[in-house]
Amino acid sequence: MRTYIKDCFKKTGNVELNGWVHDIRDLSKIKFIVLKDISGRIQCIGIKGETSEKIFDLISKLNRESVIKIKGEVKNSKQAPGGKEVLIKDIELIAKANEQLPIDVSDHSKTELPKRLDYRFLDLHRDKIQAIFKIQSTISMAFREHFIKKGFIEFQPPSIICSSSEGGTELFSAKYFEKKAFLAQSPQLYKQMVACSMEKAMTITPVWRAEKHNTTRHLNECRQMDIEMAFADAKIVMKQIEEVVQYIVKQVIEKNKNELDLLKIKLKIPKAKYLTFKETKELMKKNKISIGKDDLTGEAEKKLNELFPDTIVFVYDWPLSGKPFYIMPKDEKENAELSEGFDAIYKGMEISSGGQRIHIPELLEKRLKSKGLNPKDFKEYIDSFRYGAPPHGGWSIGLERFTQVLLNLDNIREGVMFPRDRDRLSP
Ligand code: ATP
Ligand code: MN
Repeated sequence: MRTYIKDCFKKTGNVELNGWVHDIRDLSKIKFIVLKDISGRIQCIGIKGETSEKIFDLISKLNRESVIKIKGEVKNSKQAPGGKEVLIKDIELIAKANEQLPIDVSDHSKTELPKRLDYRFLDLHRDKIQAIFKIQSTISMAFREHFIKKGFIEFQPPSIICSSSEGGTELFSAKYFEKKAFLAQSPQLYKQMVACSMEKAMTITPVWRAEKHNTTRHLNECRQMDIEMAFADAKIVMKQIEEVVQYIVKQVIEKNKNELDLLKIKLKIPKAKYLTFKETKELMKKNKISIGKDDLTGEAEKKLNELFPDTIVFVYDWPLSGKPFYIMPKDEKENAELSEGFDAIYKGMEISSGGQRIHIPELLEKRLKSKGLNPKDFKEYIDSFRYGAPPHGGWSIGLERFTQVLLNLDNIREGVMFPRDRDRLSP
């Protein structure tokens, strides 16, 4: 029966291990294999005269990253990392790796990101890369767990839609039998419909944005962690971000200690700070940082992190002109200057946008028109609020963006296994 490597450090005796050859050292009379599996690494040793000749010879012929089975005996050893090593009795070569690997997968690999992404399947052999995605798995799990515990239902929105849900953002088009269709840029309309019937909705879903820009914080396909709640205004839904982000960070600290150490990341459970857009503007003026009329600049987001480290900064009372048409104007006034929209900034980057939505069809029509959009194009959306739609609000956190921010990754592409960007459609 297979033993996982981590369990070898708790016992001695015979084991059967499956894994990858991470490293080989040949000191002529003694040969070492560093074997790795999902649970860790262990030193395995062959000794001339003790190990059978056939196996002893095979060790130096193994290529790195080949998959092997080792039968052997776990022994205490003062020199071995972790105090244990496996005396090799038999090796079975399960899958040979080519001698020349296309990228460097050692711990100190210097292969550049684009090349690594070309061979992502191999890049995923590396502990550091695995650490990122083990943490990402904790993030999405914690998100789901938190909201399920609070009585939210998880729903699955469609990914193929017939029209733009937001206006503005460019969409990828698709052929749908005789009709023209698009890939969803957000689950916006659908989550609103679920909130207006089932009150508390959450989803983790892929979205597509055909933005041509190539930045270190945008992908053309990303996953969003969304919620939408009935009878909720901006303040109520901002509080939901505060609580879930604190829960996620707590879970990552508890469950991913080894991964965080490997990535040299120290995390603290964040505090929350609430600032109006106007207060933020004044604060930036004092610090001589420029800020847009109705949007924050990247510089301003960085400054907020300097001023409030380890804090989720909520910037609310956002100018109406800087938010999508479906965001509720302040006091439900068509021509209000401010809105019920907000952004959440964490570690110097936007992690989420959200707010209270417009649930009043007439107001929605007016807001569409003042954004230069045609209400006719949004008829179905508007009509969905004509049969008993309560006030509601929600937001969206990008999963990869959040991973990038939490782990201080230079490029968002490090936080997605198989990125889709302007230039990349494979693997
Ligand atoms: P940004 O201002 O950072 O470009 P946005 O305001 O266009 O983002 P929203 O529509 O508010 O994005 O999307 C909600 C969240 O989804 C963002 O706060 C971010 O975390 C994430 N997100 C948005 N666009 C992208 C993208 N192109 N790639 C990765 N994550 C994204
Ligand atoms: Mn946004």
